[in-house]
Amino acid sequence: MTAARIKCPYCGRAVATLPANPWRPFCSERCRLLDLGAWLSARHAIPGEDVLADRADNEPPADDPE
Ligand SMILES: [Zn+2]
Repeated sequence: MTAARIKCPYCGRAVATLPANPWRPFCSERCRLLDLGAWLSARHAIPGEDVLADRADNEPPADDPE
């Protein structure tokens, strides 16, 4: 059986993609969780900032006479 050698996407350490490695393509559970957390926070942060920036420019006045 040949094990492909890849680099952990999070820390860059060489990791063997063995079926016995449950964290592949990461080297460990820690890297998998940290990478997932970074991805999720980035995904939440970008649209959130976009919406806030957009509202700041386009928000109508709150005290409209009508
Ligand atoms: Zn790693």
